Amino acid sequence: MSSIRQQDFIDSIADALQFISYYHPEDFVRSLAEAYRREESLAAKDAMAQILTNSRMCALGKRPICQDTGIVVAFVKVGMDVHWQDASMSVAEMVDAGVRKAYLLPDNVLRASVVADPAGRRKNTGDNTPAVVHFDLVPGNKIEVDIAAKGGGSENKSRFTMLNPSDDIVEWVVSQLPGMGAGWCPPGQLGIGIGGTAEKAMLLAKEALMQPIDMTELKARGAQNRLEELRIEIYDRVNALGIGAQGLGGLTTVLDVKILDYPTHAASKPVALIPNCAATRHVHFVLDGSGVAQFEPPKLEDYPDVHWHPADDARRVNLDTVTRAEIAGWQPGETLLLSGKLLTGRDAAHKRIVDMLAKGEKLPSGVDFTNRFIYYVGPVDPVRDEVVGPAGPTTATRMDKFTETMLAQTGLIGMVGKAERGKTAIDAIKKYGAVYLMAIGGAAYLVSRAIKKSRVVAFADLGMEAIYEFDVVDMPVTVAVDTQGRSVHEIGPAEWKQRIGIIPIKQIV
Ligand code: SF4
Repeated sequence: MSSIRQQDFIDSIADALQFISYYHPEDFVRSLAEAYRREESLAAKDAMAQILTNSRMCALGKRPICQDTGIVVAFVKVGMDVHWQDASMSVAEMVDAGVRKAYLLPDNVLRASVVADPAGRRKNTGDNTPAVVHFDLVPGNKIEVDIAAKGGGSENKSRFTMLNPSDDIVEWVVSQLPGMGAGWCPPGQLGIGIGGTAEKAMLLAKEALMQPIDMTELKARGAQNRLEELRIEIYDRVNALGIGAQGLGGLTTVLDVKILDYPTHAASKPVALIPNCAATRHVHFVLDGSGVAQFEPPKLEDYPDVHWHPADDARRVNLDTVTRAEIAGWQPGETLLLSGKLLTGRDAAHKRIVDMLAKGEKLPSGVDFTNRFIYYVGPVDPVRDEVVGPAGPTTATRMDKFTETMLAQTGLIGMVGKAERGKTAIDAIKKYGAVYLMAIGGAAYLVSRAIKKSRVVAFADLGMEAIYEFDVVDMPVTVAVDTQGRSVHEIGPAEWKQRIGIIPIKQIV
């Protein structure tokens, strides 16, 4: 029987969360580097270069891979012979104590993203608690933990269906991908749960994402059972859709497809699908009573020799003087380097602005969007000498319902976010001659290096959702919707879907 100290468990959870906040799993880096080398779409290759460069920078700087530092999900397997030496808390409370310690660590403070009262006031809990914890009692005298920090953008694209027993699982999965858009920040993985009941399938899909990426090895040795056949078939067919990194069109949308299954009712075929994003963060550890878990950092040589820098011909834009006439010349897919003042705002700030406008109220001083751009972001708080912590884009699609009002009533001429825009937003962009630019989701630390000054100008009570004014220099973005409503997220995947049908895809083995 092993004896586990409460503080060892709490400290192990905290150390694990700090570790995964700045170290990608080694298998993810290796797999993304392979995909980068294979990629033939210049836009997708550039996005992957940003993600790989960001990954190395985060490892060196010990700062979060993404501004969305995730909601904590833990699978805890407790050996039935384990003795808790001094426990005064439940195991779930211990996990939360570890989360609190990790997310408030002064040297690498992580963004608190969890809100309580989700159907009502949605108030931030301040320390990213509570975690979502799943328990299993197993034989033995150890505690095994798989812990992840799951990004909201990818979690939001989860899917579930109850198929008929004769229905085709691959068809259903492949049919879901176009509708998931790019808000889940591909390239990443798909976790799939098959069987059990509705809730069991969802749990299997999430747990499947804790497995290491090994598609290259699987393809090299060939499938040895039905689940491995499914994994390869889904992987190939999803990548043949041409969605590509960040939805820009390209050869790699998924790096791997992980599947877990469970016996089910003869009348049922539940299938769950949960994507994991470019900020894949998870780690496994075991406690056997000998103390706090140890985590081995990756070596610098584990990172590929990829160092993103802007293309020489990228168009430089002065945000302080840019005009409607100037933005009308920008082409979908064009790279821009933004310099000047950039206001921020995401879900809560948009809601408040639109409510104020509806009541005929004036916006706070400092919030003048005339001929300005807004950046959809909720940054991590700064530490040490930073002006702002990692500050990558959040999913723009959630702001679609506010876009018409913002463009019609505030003088705004452009937006910066990630992923595609929906029809209502694109119609408004076209109507008002505005533009939508995208930054790379999962390259938050790299993007934050372009931010030279930051101050809160309104709605400070909203925390990370407050309105900031950033001074940026050469912030890299891509024109995603031009003034005529042409969307790179439609053009790119359509082109690459067709090309994948024509050009030979380089072997990954
Ligand atoms: S990479 Fe995208 S989906 Fe993942 S945590 Fe970051 S913003 Fe969210």
